[in-house]
Amino acid sequence: MPLLHEQLTPVFDEVMNRNPGETEFHQAVREVLESLSPVVEQHPEYADAEIIRRLCEPERQIIFRVPWTDDSGRVQLNRGFRVEFNSALGPYKGGLRFHPSVYLGIVKFLGFEQIFKNSLTGLPIGGAKGGSDFDPKGRSEAEVMRFCQSFMLELYRHLGEYTDVPAGDIGVGGREIGYMFGQYKRITNRYESGTFTGKGLTWGGSRVRTEATGYGTVFFVDEMLRAAGDSFEGKRVIVSGSGNVAIYAIEKIHQLGGRVIACSDSGGYIVDEDGVDLSLVKEIKNDRRGRIEEYATVRTSARFVAGGSIWDVPSDIALPCATQNELDEPGATALIRSGCRIVAEGANMPTTPGAIRALREAGVSFAPGKAVNAGGVATSALEMQQNASRDSWTFEHTEERLAVIMSSIHDRCLETADRYGTPGDYVAGANIAGFIRVADAMLALGVI
Ligand code: GLU
Repeated sequence: MPLLHEQLTPVFDEVMNRNPGETEFHQAVREVLESLSPVVEQHPEYADAEIIRRLCEPERQIIFRVPWTDDSGRVQLNRGFRVEFNSALGPYKGGLRFHPSVYLGIVKFLGFEQIFKNSLTGLPIGGAKGGSDFDPKGRSEAEVMRFCQSFMLELYRHLGEYTDVPAGDIGVGGREIGYMFGQYKRITNRYESGTFTGKGLTWGGSRVRTEATGYGTVFFVDEMLRAAGDSFEGKRVIVSGSGNVAIYAIEKIHQLGGRVIACSDSGGYIVDEDGVDLSLVKEIKNDRRGRIEEYATVRTSARFVAGGSIWDVPSDIALPCATQNELDEPGATALIRSGCRIVAEGANMPTTPGAIRALREAGVSFAPGKAVNAGGVATSALEMQQNASRDSWTFEHTEERLAVIMSSIHDRCLETADRYGTPGDYVAGANIAGFIRVADAMLALGVI
């Protein structure tokens, strides 16, 4: 592990001691602190105001009981979370995740990442994250609705367009946002559209929000390629996952001339050398909520590998778009061996620290999720703008705004990396640029 700056070692030790057992949170904090040495050297004012220590402590953490009744009349119990991490730049903003792996450490890592990601967009949004250990898999529509309503019956009191604005994440899409917004509206008796993003297009949602994380990821990679005098044309690409981020990443890669040859879900991965048939993936995953395994039973050009590692498939570009720590050191070694040149994170923290180190030592260009996948939350901020002005933009206009935002995030990362003595280092560039905007706002707002 790279050493931390001597001023940052006690900060990290404090985070470990105050938040025992929250390994993903420790990992996310460490990754940021490792980038901040040159900032600590050049800006003593941040240490004087204890900016980094304050940034690592959430402003507010809410944990609550979510009881609900399943279809057979049995009472079920889940735990709900919202970590309102930092509001120096704007109202708390970040998604809700419904997945059995959710616990405080996951919500805090996601909330911490969100602060920097949201800062990088240049838009006025603070950082938060929330969710529940509820598992939507196998649940009926009615069960999902009852769960969402119970979840909102507590969370509503913490939300508001100027306070905290949730959106989706793993396990939370348009359907769940609808049920939660419906319950919020009912409890508050206010049609306050700006309290949620990722809404349906007929009731206040923004065009391109569904596609935004995947499209934005690919726009970012396109900028990486362009900076190296290259393009997507003819590239073999692996996209892990087959959820919302993966699906729209695949769509945009194909539009830009690349060929996605593999994608996955928790059961395994498919390889299709003819290029992944996206309409089939959408039908299986979106329409039927099925398993990716079914793809290979329909397409003769494809094979399904149960379990296994998608990173074994030879590629030029790999985009981990599933979940945290899905790309480990053996995965990175396989990518390096097959000649992969670019790894960019569509998911949040999908690459382990060991894998990042291996990729960088091998000269693979690596870009972190907080920059690469910021298009989702950036488009959420555009949704908030449309709600505030009671306006509705066209698909083309919104996509154009997204493309400009991604290109400016990319350039900001490279310029910042250059300025702080680590040219070409997207991790350092993203962490430092994200940090400085928040840190300066915190300085300006005083000790609060
Ligand atoms: N959950 C998404 C993310 O990881 C989106 C958050 C939002 O739109 O508020 O950035």
